[in-house]
Amino acid sequence: MTDPNCIFCKIVSGAIPSRKVYEDENCYAFMDIAPFEKGHTLVVPKHHARFLTDLTEATLTQLIMTTQKVAAYILKTMPCDGFNILQNNGECALQTIPHVHFHIIPRWNNKGLQWHSTKAYDSEEEMVEIHKRIIINE
Ligand code: AMP
Ligand code: ZN
Repeated sequence: MTDPNCIFCKIVSGAIPSRKVYEDENCYAFMDIAPFEKGHTLVVPKHHARFLTDLTEATLTQLIMTTQKVAAYILKTMPCDGFNILQNNGECALQTIPHVHFHIIPRWNNKGLQWHSTKAYDSEEEMVEIHKRIIINE
C-alpha cells in the first residue's frame, strides 16, 4: 500500500530524491535530511503504515533485520563506537512523518548526545563523502 500524500512513500517510489543507503525487496534506507549526527540514517518499510503496531509480524521482522544490517555496516564504515535506534509513534511522541521508520544514529565515545537536528555535517562535501562510506553496494 502507498499513501499518495506520504513523503516517505514518495521517497521509496523515487518521486522525491533521497540519499539511498540500502534497498531490498521490503525496505528502503536513506540518509536523514536533518541529522542528529553524521551518518544518521532512516530505515522504512516500502509499504505505507503509520505506527510500529500497524505492521504485520513478517514486515516488522524484515524491517528490524534490515535495520540491523544497515546499523552493522554504519558501525564498521563510519566508523562509530555505538548507535541509537529511535522509533517514534504519534505526534505526541515526536513522530513528524506518519510512515513507520527506524532512526539509526551513530554515536562516539566522549562526544555529547544530541537529541535534535544539528548541523551535523561540516559541508556538503563531507555529507557526500560519508554517504559513499555507508552506502551498501551489493
Ligand atoms: P520522526 O520525528 O521520527 O517522524 O522523524 C522523521 C525524520 O525524517 C526526521 O529526522 C527528518 O529529518 C526526516 N526527514 C523528513 N523529510 C525527509 C526527507 N525528505 N529526506 C530525508 N529525511 C527526511
Ligand atoms: Zn508512506
